[in-house]
This record gives sequence, C-alpha cells and structure tokens, in this order.
Amino acid sequence: MPFKDIKSLSREELRQFLSDNGHKPYRADQIRVWLFCQMKQTYEGLNIPAELCELLETNFRIKSLNEETKMESQDGTIKWLYKTADGLPVETVMIPTETRASVCVSTQSGCAMNCAFCRTARMGLNRSLESGEILEQIINVHRYFLENAQERKVTNVVFMGMGEPLMNLDAVHRACVCLHDQKTFSMGKGRLTISTSGVAPKISELLERGTPCQLAVSLVAADNETRESLMPINKTWNLTELLNAVDSYLAQSGEWVTLEYILIKDKTCTEAAAQNLIRIVKPRRCKVNAIVLNNNENPELQAPSEQEINEFLEIVRAKAVQINIRNSRGCDIYAACGQLAEALNGRML
Ligand code: SF4
Repeated sequence: MPFKDIKSLSREELRQFLSDNGHKPYRADQIRVWLFCQMKQTYEGLNIPAELCELLETNFRIKSLNEETKMESQDGTIKWLYKTADGLPVETVMIPTETRASVCVSTQSGCAMNCAFCRTARMGLNRSLESGEILEQIINVHRYFLENAQERKVTNVVFMGMGEPLMNLDAVHRACVCLHDQKTFSMGKGRLTISTSGVAPKISELLERGTPCQLAVSLVAADNETRESLMPINKTWNLTELLNAVDSYLAQSGEWVTLEYILIKDKTCTEAAAQNLIRIVKPRRCKVNAIVLNNNENPELQAPSEQEINEFLEIVRAKAVQINIRNSRGCDIYAACGQLAEALNGRML
C-alpha cells in the first residue's frame, strides 16, 4: 500500500509529523476532531493552510475502506463488507438493542487461527489491519446512524470480528487508546472488549501497555482434548498455560474476565463438560457467556437440543457459576459468531 492511513497515527505522532514539517503541532487536535468527531473523509472545509492540506494528502490515506455490500438481518443486525485500499475483504457487524449499539470490528482480513467452527478460518489470513482501518469501521457505523437520522451512537466496541486481536496487538492497542481518548470518542474502558482465542503470552501485554479494555477469552471447551480438536491454538498454549495467563491478569487487574463458551452437541454440552467448566470457573473471578453453535458447514459439529442445553445449564448453575446464554444475532445474514467470511455476489464462503 502506498500510504499509511492518517487515523493510524497517535496524537503524539501526528504532532511530531506536523512539527517536523514546519507546522504548528496544535493542529493535530484540530485534524483529529475533523477525522474522528466530524467523521470527514476529505480535508475540504477544514480550516488549515493549503500547503498543510497538500502535505497530509501526499503522505497519508484519509479513507481506507470501500463499502462492497451491506446486509440487514430481520433482527436489526447489520453487516458490512468492505474492501481495503489493497482490495482485501473486511467485515463489520452492528448489533442494536433498545439501549445499545455494539459494533463488532475485524482486526485482520481473514484469520490464521483455523478454529473448526469458524468460517473466517477458511479464508486464511490476508493481513493484519492498521489501527486506522479498525477505527474507520466504527466511524462508518456512526456515519450510518447520522445519515439515516437515527439518534443512536456506538455504545460498545467488541474486537471479535475477523482475526485474532492479540496477533495484531499494536494496532488494536492504538485503536483502543483512540476510542478511549476524551478528545475523540471518549468511550469508557468498560465499553471496549478484546476477545482472544487464547494467545496466552500476549494477555499480560495488555496490562503492560495499559490498553483501555476488558478481556474476554474464547474458552469454547473446558478440556484439552476437546479444545484442541476445535481450536488448534490449544496445541501451542494449552488450557493450563492459558488459565495461568488469565490468573495473572485477574490478579494484576483486579477485574473480571469473560469466558466465552460454545455449546456443541456431544462435545461441550455434556455432563462431563459441565463439570470441567465448573472446575475452571468456580475458583476464578470469571463469568461465562455461552452461545449455542451457529450454522456451520462442518457435519461433525451440531447444535445441542433445547433439553440438552437446559440440562447443561442446570448442572453449571447448581454450583453457583455465573453463566449467561447469549442469543446469536444476525444468523440469517451470516453475521453471528464464527460466521464472518467474505460475502460477495450473494456467495458465502
Ligand atoms: S473464531 Fe476467531 S480466532 Fe478462531 S478462526 Fe475465527 S476469527 Fe480466527
């Protein structure tokens, strides 16, 4: 790609760039408000000297994502497919409720983690996104609300779209800092959630960097054998290593961690699986968000029956473990968990 997105620069980097090129550093805030609050995609109308405008245009991209398709679910969920400046697919999902609008952003185009239940895995990894490309997904949803006269704002951002966020931590950290910044998006850290498939050594880096976010971990299964069959990452960092990393995060941050669990027939929704889950969650400051496996093309992976789900929940709740069933949203447009993949010409991967 010829240029970096200007939105990928931190405030300090932009100030430095301006001062290195003979311009007043205070202009950085003016430019950032224009990009992040006014959501502009040209410099037309911005009150800066013409030569500064030219300097920015010759050094940076101001727009990174081109909308290819927009699909609307019966439940109000919207999924956008974008192409990056170098032609790679990226999907973003907006999930509305009465009081919230959560945006699920992609951090990579495709993903290398190869989880068995996930369509994105079948794309492989194209590349990691710049922080400007991540932020533009959120800005685009804000702009969509504005253009459609909806009095909504993005209230929550979850880093759970295409890609493994901790494999692109620098850009994800930058995006979180910008979203948290009072002069731009001003979103509290409780509204930003990074979800990892289990890149254990990177979990502590979130605290070292001071990334403003909450942590969610895709546990998916609660024993090594089942987890390994569903998530190859478990061969690199097994449950013991992952839970050690979670424990040290819990100890250092003093916060709660969300464990995401997927209910799969005969695999993770059995009595033995319930006991394994209890053993993991009970001693930790964790809550479990469980979802029932979504439509996928793997014949070995099926959703459990309602009775099996209820029996599982009864066992877990009897031990006072906090477990919530999350309803999947946007299944009809392949926008739910594990379903994001390039959607072109009506064809799903
Ligand atoms: S579930 Fe997440 S980490 Fe696993 S392949 Fe899909 S996008 Fe990647």
